[in-house]
Amino acid sequence: MSAFRVAVRAATLALVLAGIAARVFAQAGDDPRARLVAALLGDTPMLEDARALTDGLGGRATGSAANLASVEWALDRFRQAGVTARKEAFQMPALWLERSASATVRGRASFAPRIVAAPFSAPTPAGGLTAPLVDGGAGSDADFARLGPAARGAWILIETEPLTDIPGLFREYAQTAAIEPRATAAGAAGVVYQSSRPNNLLARHNASLGPQNRLPIVMMERDGAGRALRLLRGGETLTLTVVLDLQTGGPYESYNVVGEIRGATKPDEVVVIGAHLDSWDLGDGALDNGANVAMLIDIARQMTRLGLRPARTIRFILWNGEEQILIGSWRYTQQQEAALDRHVMASSYDIGTGRITGFFTGGRPEIAAATTRALEAIAALGPFTQVDVPVVGTDNFDFMMQGVANLVANQESANYGPNYHARSDTYDKVDARQLRLNAAIAATVTWWYANAEVTWRRQTRAELDRLVETTDLDDQMRMFSILADWEAGRRGRARWP
Ligand SMILES: [Zn+2]
Repeated sequence: MSAFRVAVRAATLALVLAGIAARVFAQAGDDPRARLVAALLGDTPMLEDARALTDGLGGRATGSAANLASVEWALDRFRQAGVTARKEAFQMPALWLERSASATVRGRASFAPRIVAAPFSAPTPAGGLTAPLVDGGAGSDADFARLGPAARGAWILIETEPLTDIPGLFREYAQTAAIEPRATAAGAAGVVYQSSRPNNLLARHNASLGPQNRLPIVMMERDGAGRALRLLRGGETLTLTVVLDLQTGGPYESYNVVGEIRGATKPDEVVVIGAHLDSWDLGDGALDNGANVAMLIDIARQMTRLGLRPARTIRFILWNGEEQILIGSWRYTQQQEAALDRHVMASSYDIGTGRITGFFTGGRPEIAAATTRALEAIAALGPFTQVDVPVVGTDNFDFMMQGVANLVANQESANYGPNYHARSDTYDKVDARQLRLNAAIAATVTWWYANAEVTWRRQTRAELDRLVETTDLDDQMRMFSILADWEAGRRGRARWP
């Protein structure tokens, strides 16, 4: 597209959004939220920030040089906007990065499909790991029973369904959490997942046991894995050599970036709005989660520029280590444990740039009702519906298990699923118009929680135990390999306060 057409499109978008802003708060007089929404729907550096972070710095796995650069970038963007900001150090449990990964399939012919290591995959020996490649079907109990002793010492190739949406993504998480223990029990040499993305597109999908995983686990391009499966099903015998060059190590220091607007009348009470700064490294972390990082920075920027002072302190937190089992937000809740009673709300934005349809409110009817009230002022951007269930998978988790009221923005799947953790998660996938509308929604909700009278308090451990008993929280925690930490008291609210 020519520069002129880009400019015309941007100007048209600005006009449309200005029209929406006028409509949203038509009756609101000088309500600070109206000024905030109008500013966020106007011409701001939000998209330029998203582009600089994703095109400029690219994928930024925690532990990498790009990740450290993104921390300094975010600090600079907050400070340029006049927002007080700091980085807060915390310890990551273990270093895991991939330097390179390659594979060769050998039968009558040989071919070299593209692969990547799953995060927390075990390494292979320097010369690679060569073993029979066997058809693991969908990786079910019946598939492993069919394989019998043939699974021992073999690479198990798992056929997958194409991934199209967010429910499909959660199905993948649940399936891998069941398949990998079966592979371990069967004495497999390693697991090979057919990529659920088209052609030769790859994605990084966590090994279900996280850092406790002991197997080499890789994802193979869909087309190459499909060829191998057809050959195996035609009766051919194949071997697979995988060479994984991984950078692994012990604990190291990482940083959350915290922008802060201090409360005017209740500065000790805190409202957190969060998005994770880190990403996996195949793509540029645009939908997951650079767009929402830029959105948070712009909300802080516009509040500051307009001189808006909330009653409570608002912390705009860019979490690190999220992709490596939600470490940055966990460490924050540990460091802030004594202040968590005064954390009124912690919200997370982490599902790309699909339309915000409401919020997950954690299995707390009082929070669902309050959020519905918070959204009333911007009904024109709805409809909004609260889904009052606890969700595991992003940085609300440790707040939730500490009993702090928490929200996760519920968003239309849009293009999130197919690009999730894949090379294709690049800046061009960002929906500029919807990101601005989402910023208006996020800012309105955050402002409401930073100013409204609230009636709830932090949940007790007994209330949290009941939440786990009466919902699928335990299954969700198992899926993200956090259940053992909760049960052992390493994560979440202590039993004996
Ligand atoms: Zn994410």
